[in-house]
Amino acid sequence: ARKPMMAGNWKMNNTVGEAVVLTQEISNQYDKEWPEALDIVICPPFVDLKPAKTVLDFDRTKIAVGAQNVYWEPKGAFTGEVSVPMIKEIGCACSIVGHSERRELFGETNEDVNRKVKALVGAGLYAIVCVGESLAVREEGATEKYVTAQVRAAFAGVDARDAARCVVAYEPIWAIGTGRTATPEQAQAVCAAVRATLAELFGAETAESMRVLYGGSMNPGNVEGLMAQPDIDGGLVGGASLKAESFVQLVEACR
Ligand code: 13P
Repeated sequence: ARKPMMAGNWKMNNTVGEAVVLTQEISNQYDKEWPEALDIVICPPFVDLKPAKTVLDFDRTKIAVGAQNVYWEPKGAFTGEVSVPMIKEIGCACSIVGHSERRELFGETNEDVNRKVKALVGAGLYAIVCVGESLAVREEGATEKYVTAQVRAAFAGVDARDAARCVVAYEPIWAIGTGRTATPEQAQAVCAAVRATLAELFGAETAESMRVLYGGSMNPGNVEGLMAQPDIDGGLVGGASLKAESFVQLVEACR
């Protein structure tokens, strides 16, 4: 059985001061009893990573910290970028890669996503690889073709052992920040197609072990129906991860 994962993508929210407060609020919920049955990850902006990690280490809270993006070169003349060794030294376990906002607003290509996945797994970290279709693609009936092509591109040249540590997040673009969640059946259909593609690439056993998350207006009201689906192993949550109360409710729904 796969261990569920609840991951909060804070996007461009929370100054260091705000991040410390929110991390502390989440951490306080788990200072007595740690839910071994699932993995919890928070993905704050770069400047908040070290402060958030310091709060969690101080509290001995086993919530993992991940970046929202990373560059594939280890160092050098790449103004404005942050490398894998930099987030690794802070203690990040992973980075989100290929979020639709990065693809749409910052021109990230499938090839860039692949380079980032390789840089992360090469350093012993893992990627939370985001895939998902626009409304236009869905209306054309091309969703599964589009999403599975994103999965193949992201993992091109990655071996099964490295892929096994990675996570795929299916996030339909039309559901992100819109309050319009995919139905559990819609989300399940695409997550199953993602897993079938992972099985083609890495074998059935590896595909069965990998977590596939759903993202897009996930909230305490709809999490249970989504989590009840056989190929949905957790969530990548934006808005509802910005308040400790709703994020903890989502975590509780996954244990
Ligand atoms: P919302 O939960 O705010 O819709 O965002 C989803 C998302 O993009 C997580 O990466």
